[in-house]
Amino acid sequence: MSRLESKASEDSSKTELGSSLNYTLSKSYDSVTEEANWREYWRQHDIYHFDPHDKSRKAFSIDTPPPYPSGDFHVGNALNWCYIDFVARYKRMRGFNVHFPQGWDCHGLPTEVRVEQTFKIRKNDVPPDQFVEMCRKLTGEYIAKMKQSMNLLGISSDWALEYKTMDPSYYKLTQLSFIELFKSGHLYRGEHPVNWCPRDETAIAEAEVVYQERKGTLYYMRFGDPTGGIEIASTRPELLAACVGIAVHPKDEKYKTIVGKTVTVPIFGQKALVISDDEVDPRYGTGAVMICTFGDKTDVRWQMKYHLPVIKALTENGRLSVDDPRFKGLKAEEARKKIVAELQAKGRVSKTETTQQNIGTCWRCQTPVEIISRPQWFMKTRDMTQKVVDWAGKLVWVPPFSKQRLIDWAESLDWDWVISRQRIFATPIPVWYCTKCGTVIVPEESKLPVDPRKDTSPEEKCPECGSSELRGEMDVLDTWMDSSITAAIHAGWPNKSDLFKQLFPADLQPNGLDIVRTWDYYLMVRSLALFGTAPYKTLLINGMVKGTDGRMMHKSYGNYVVADEAIKKAGADAFRQWAAAGGSTGYDIPFRWNELEYGKKFLTKLWNVTRFILANTAESIPQKNLSTLSLIDRWLLGSLHNLTKEVSEAFETFQFNTALEAIRNFTWHALADDYLEAVKHRLQLGRDQADLKATQYCLREALLTICKLLAPICPHMSEAVYHQFPSTATKSVHQESWPEPDQTLDEASIRNGKLLLDLIAHARREKSAKGLSLGSNIKRIVISTEAEHLHLLKENEETILRTLKADSMDLERFPPNSNQAKEPGTGFKVEIVA
Ligand SMILES: [Zn+2]
Ligand SMILES: [Zn+2]
Repeated sequence: MSRLESKASEDSSKTELGSSLNYTLSKSYDSVTEEANWREYWRQHDIYHFDPHDKSRKAFSIDTPPPYPSGDFHVGNALNWCYIDFVARYKRMRGFNVHFPQGWDCHGLPTEVRVEQTFKIRKNDVPPDQFVEMCRKLTGEYIAKMKQSMNLLGISSDWALEYKTMDPSYYKLTQLSFIELFKSGHLYRGEHPVNWCPRDETAIAEAEVVYQERKGTLYYMRFGDPTGGIEIASTRPELLAACVGIAVHPKDEKYKTIVGKTVTVPIFGQKALVISDDEVDPRYGTGAVMICTFGDKTDVRWQMKYHLPVIKALTENGRLSVDDPRFKGLKAEEARKKIVAELQAKGRVSKTETTQQNIGTCWRCQTPVEIISRPQWFMKTRDMTQKVVDWAGKLVWVPPFSKQRLIDWAESLDWDWVISRQRIFATPIPVWYCTKCGTVIVPEESKLPVDPRKDTSPEEKCPECGSSELRGEMDVLDTWMDSSITAAIHAGWPNKSDLFKQLFPADLQPNGLDIVRTWDYYLMVRSLALFGTAPYKTLLINGMVKGTDGRMMHKSYGNYVVADEAIKKAGADAFRQWAAAGGSTGYDIPFRWNELEYGKKFLTKLWNVTRFILANTAESIPQKNLSTLSLIDRWLLGSLHNLTKEVSEAFETFQFNTALEAIRNFTWHALADDYLEAVKHRLQLGRDQADLKATQYCLREALLTICKLLAPICPHMSEAVYHQFPSTATKSVHQESWPEPDQTLDEASIRNGKLLLDLIAHARREKSAKGLSLGSNIKRIVISTEAEHLHLLKENEETILRTLKADSMDLERFPPNSNQAKEPGTGFKVEIVA
């Protein structure tokens, strides 16, 4: 970070700004107190209120991610919310009626697992109602914590729009969407193998399976005749009881003669059919593999393709369900050991090998997933792949590469989305069944919400067979079924009024790269099925935060930073600067304390500049008068115009780092280093009034513009500066209009002004090279330059003399083609006569 350090030391060598001011602004900016005060001010004045009746402004809707209330608002979350807030604040100033709700995705495994850990129980140890109550209570506590963190960060969500997916008013809508999808044929109930977590005893979706590299053992086992037969290598001997077939490659000569025959499975004695299939890798193990129902997804395919029988070897809690008393009820790993010992005793294991495995594990508890078949509810998502791909191509993706994440994911799925879960704390599936004929009964919309686990069926008799033996569904919905309709729910669905048209599809879908395949995907399929359109227009995707050591941030690595601590230490505006400047949008960014320190230094600089300007500007507001503007004034306003253009473009394209760098550079260098130093003499008393007014006008204009441009990223500091201008139009900088670049200023002023400032900087260096202080008077300054600059310098003689405290100036023309006379990188040669 030498760049940052050099900037900081450069600053301290400058004349201290504001040393002569008599203004009451506190000398230093205390971020903790100031930020808390402004947050209270915003709350009291309801600055971020979305007005549904406002017809004068166009709505801008943000489908904010509803986080799992884990209580921990980590820096990754903080980065995500900073991005959202930058856009929300920018759009408000652009005149939009910004709809920025915040919700909480309460249901699901994480909360249940936490309750189990916190209270040291398993879900079935207490009655379901009591378990749900424990989940609700814990969730409430976590929400309060996270809300506090969001507030501390200065997030401008409209809390009047807060929602919780565990509220009956919300899950009523989840149930309604289920019924609509069921009636339109997008859902079905069936018995299909699904991924299953034996620890959590529930089905899980493909998106919830995390693949991990692990070491395993490959056992070479002899099937059939103990002396002949066939040798098969497998890492999962515990599944022998569920072995229903053996697969070999069609071109594998060794096995040609046994394809189509059956072989006896050792220990358990069932017959396994030998089939040949191109999918077999003849180089793996012995080239013959066992097919178990179900060891993995390939087994699922082969079972169906070759009409093999199904043997359920595992129970829902991952224990062996065979009849053999030696193995019944054993956990998979214990069963493996016992079965291997038994095989070895019979001389049926010829060798073992260590092997690297890519194992699917539960995203929540890291337990290896099994594949278990039982009745489940599914959404027909495989049929929608092409639609998802087509729609993905029509949307704006920031950064563009994130689009491919969604497409690749959609195309990789070979099973439908399993939406039922065998858990407790979740939205109940609004369905009853006739136990006689299996007819599915769904309630009327007016009866929602329902809980078929306790409520009686809305119909007394089965509409098909008249039986009164009806039972409620005990399974619940995947939590993504709650959170994948947020965009529509924000817009007021099922009420499709004007507001719905204004807010749906959402203008902005902001989330991390890690949930493109879940949240963005599920939102897309739900919305396509329910509304025939994508639920969002622009996707703003943030990367992940890396630790100070460059690795992904993780508690176990010791590189983990709690967002609250960082904010309390450096202030929210400094933290937000790290989020903006830390990297390009969509890429992973490292967490660096010195970036936060630099952010703080910048705020101190801006505070000091503000104090200086306030101390030196008249109470009346100076008006712009082009005729009194000097070249340097026009340069400043021209540069400000360019800055406004650059920052506006950066916000329009979500390049927050570009926006912030431009603002910081302008404030630090153009305004403080160059302009202020060049005009200090004009602020002194006894000078020309018109000249003074022009300088004051420029200073105020620059400061107010900076404070507006900075408002989306540093909302607290900008508000503090804004309130130093009593004549401003609104109660808050966040209700101000975004600055429009001034079109009347020309590029020539910027070019010539820069030349003049370069000369002044150059002469100052010469002065100090001679051992003279910047404030000391000098007799004469001799400037040699190109013929074309002479006129410009003559015109600005007064500025040059006053800034450099010189009595007179001599101008000389370089002889033609005498480049040697110039110092490298400048158009001048300067001589100081003391
Ligand atoms: Zn699990
Ligand atoms: Zn029936």
